This record gives sequence, C-alpha cells and structure tokens, in this order.
Amino acid sequence: MKIKVDTHSHTFASGHAYSTIREMARAGADAGLLALAITEHAPTMPETCGRFYFSNFSIIPREMYGIKLMFGVELNILDEEGNVDLPEHLLKQMDIAIASIHGPCFGKSRGIEGNTRAYLNAMKNPYIHIIGHPDDGRFPVDYETLVKAAKETGTLLEVNNSSLSSGSFRENAKENILEMLKLCKKYGVYITTGSDAHIDVETGGFSHVYEALSDCGFPEELVASTSYEKLMNYLKLHKII
Ligand SMILES: [Zn+2]
Ligand SMILES: [Zn+2]
Repeated sequence: MKIKVDTHSHTFASGHAYSTIREMARAGADAGLLALAITEHAPTMPETCGRFYFSNFSIIPREMYGIKLMFGVELNILDEEGNVDLPEHLLKQMDIAIASIHGPCFGKSRGIEGNTRAYLNAMKNPYIHIIGHPDDGRFPVDYETLVKAAKETGTLLEVNNSSLSSGSFRENAKENILEMLKLCKKYGVYITTGSDAHIDVETGGFSHVYEALSDCGFPEELVASTSYEKLMNYLKLHKII
C-alpha cells in the first residue's frame, strides 16, 4: 500500500508551526506525495489565523513542485452540538475541511457520551469532510457509534501520524486507533491519513500510520488517500466539496 495524499498539515500561519506553503509543498513532493492538504487551525485556537486568512485562498496556486495542493482548515469542534468556528460562507470556499476536538477550544472532556455527540453532530455538517485525530484518550469516544456515523454521513475518519509518534501529547492513541480501525474494517468505513505536520520535514510522513494499518491488516480499498481521485470521488459522493 502506498499513501499518496496527506490530508492534514499546517504552515507557520497556524501560529505554532514553522514552515511556509512553498516549503511544505517541496517536502511533500520529496516525500512522494501526489497531493497535500494545508489545513490551518481555525480562529478559536490561540494565536492562529483569523477569519480573513481563510477568505483569500483563491489566489494560491493549486500545484507546486508537481503535486496538487488543497487549501482548507482544521476546524475546532466547540460543543456537543458540533458547532465549529468558521461560518458556512467560508467553509464553502475550502478545498477540504477537517473538524477536531482540541482542549483549548472544546474545554474539558464531556465524557464518552458528550464527546461522541460532539463528533456525530459535526459529521452531519456537509462541509466537514474529515474528523481529525479522534484518538485522544483525554477525550474518550464510543468508537462503534463514531464509525457507524462516519459511514452514514460519508465523513472520513483520520489516522493521524503525529498522534502515534513518541512525542505525542495525545493519550492512548495507538490503542484507540487500532480499535477504530478494527471497526472500520468490520463495517467497511473509509479512513484518510494525515501527517499533521507542523514543519516541512514531517510532511507526508506516515511510518506510524503504516504500522497501525498493517497491525490490523487494514484493507487498502478503505484507505481513501492512496490516490487523489479516490479521495475526491469519495467526498464528492457524500459531501459538498
Ligand atoms: Zn488537531
Ligand atoms: Zn492539526
């Protein structure tokens, strides 16, 4: 299996990441990607881009160093209702949108029920294509419910390489990801892959993702990011993109 699309990365515009668009594109090409999504943190994250940042993506070339570029956002899920922190008129202009739970924006865990409800409601949003890193033990989730809802709403669940790296602050990620993958395999639910790179050298890095996929014999057909067309076709079928 060869992962060809990285659906999650940040440039220095996100406030706690350190490379430019050009550096990220270059690193993605060097890593053998065919497409890279740059998904900056949405405005509720401290010291990230403001709303205006997300309003001018049309001026950026969608190809550099021979790879496709997508410009989008990593939204913050704000509450159990699944509200996020950019308005619909901006989400409409995105190439791709991830929604994630982050402590500084979501606050404390709402328990398994509350966290799961937050994801489920976010997944109903037709402009949200991916749930980012639903693997953090600090925000426990009912994976059976999550995976079934992902299938129903056509939302991709992300396997996040950074969550699995040794320096990750997310708790119990490997165990949680394996549980999620097992259920995705059982119910035929598609996943995507994000490096969550915050610096160019991490772009397109999937060593931990490959390991997790192989640990549970995950079928290649359910990995949407093995080709750009496969990813786009899946999203166009289920979401607004
Ligand atoms: Zn995140
Ligand atoms: Zn991220």
